[in-house]
Amino acid sequence: ALSVRDLTKHYADAAHNVFDGISFDVPKGKVLVVVGPSGSGKSTLLRTIAGLEPIQGGTIALNGDVIETGQPGNENSGRVKRGEDLRTKFGMVFQSYDLFPNKDVLGNITMAPMLVQKRKKEEVEREALELLDRVHLADRAHAKPHELSGGQRQRVAICRALILHPEILLLDEITAALDPEMVHEVLEVVVELADAGQTMLIVTHEMSFARAIADRVILLSDGGIAERSDDPETFFTHPKTARAQEFLHSFD
Ligand code: ATP
Ligand code: MG
Repeated sequence: ALSVRDLTKHYADAAHNVFDGISFDVPKGKVLVVVGPSGSGKSTLLRTIAGLEPIQGGTIALNGDVIETGQPGNENSGRVKRGEDLRTKFGMVFQSYDLFPNKDVLGNITMAPMLVQKRKKEEVEREALELLDRVHLADRAHAKPHELSGGQRQRVAICRALILHPEILLLDEITAALDPEMVHEVLEVVVELADAGQTMLIVTHEMSFARAIADRVILLSDGGIAERSDDPETFFTHPKTARAQEFLHSFD
């Protein structure tokens, strides 16, 4: 389980904290969906949890162990120091698939486990092919990224995260840059992961997807959590706060 307590994030030179003392939990095997307007700090939240940005207050704990404590003065951007063990507990997929253009699909997926975890090539390739099969891309193992559609590239990016066996998968608007007809094939893979018990934090603007996949949902707004629910159906159909009503109406 992931526990975030009183998390505060400030960027150097910014007038306000991005968020100011927010707390939430993601139990093992559950899906937390994070929604909120542009600029509310959704990407920043995922990046701080992944250890790609320092925090200035509060704690992040994984399975009861505090892995990050806010340092008020530290507003440098960039990766925070975490052991390799801890780093691979978090897998992240971004909006813009950043696959290596010169490597084929298999090469993209197998690079990190071979370099970082020193796993054997044959074993990693076997697992990569299994993952590709799961996302219905087994026949594209030797394609280069430019030969794939956006939806296929995002599915490769998901495989690249999964092969490190992350305890928590962080997905930041992974369908936002896709043509509408490719959104479904990517979201379907995410639903299958949720069904398989993968713990996830998902940032999305796809409200029907959010409603279908969330175990819990939080609405980020103005530096805080404007509304939270462990009953997503109620959150999406009968939001309690004016802020959530207004936010959800903007999708009608
Ligand atoms: P969107 O829906 O547009 O992706 P978001 O909710 O993901 O927005 P963030 O990207 O987390 O929002 O940004 C939150 C705030 O922090 C914004 O005001 C943004 O301008 C600011 N911000 C983000 N990254 C940096 C950075 N590296 N340095 C300074 N300020 C930043
Ligand atoms: Mg964002």
